[in-house]
Amino acid sequence: MITCDFEVFDRLTLFPGYPACWKVEILRSYGEGATEQRKAAQKALVFACAVCKAQMPDPKTYKQHFENKHPKNPIPKELEDVV
Ligand SMILES: [Zn+2]
Repeated sequence: MITCDFEVFDRLTLFPGYPACWKVEILRSYGEGATEQRKAAQKALVFACAVCKAQMPDPKTYKQHFENKHPKNPIPKELEDVV
């Protein structure tokens, strides 16, 4: 249930022109969206090196790591297209 929280409303500067209840609802949905984005970002962090299991933030870093640390290993398929 959405309640009008006017203490929250007073602090809001976003979404001018929306009724207070809507603002609270919008902020709630934004908060949930942000949580989902954080989860997705954390998921994206799992680029674990196939050789040493080190975690890389993105494929580019992973490829550089692989070329520097494991030059004798064949490059993983998912890195072949990474420039
Ligand atoms: Zn490695």
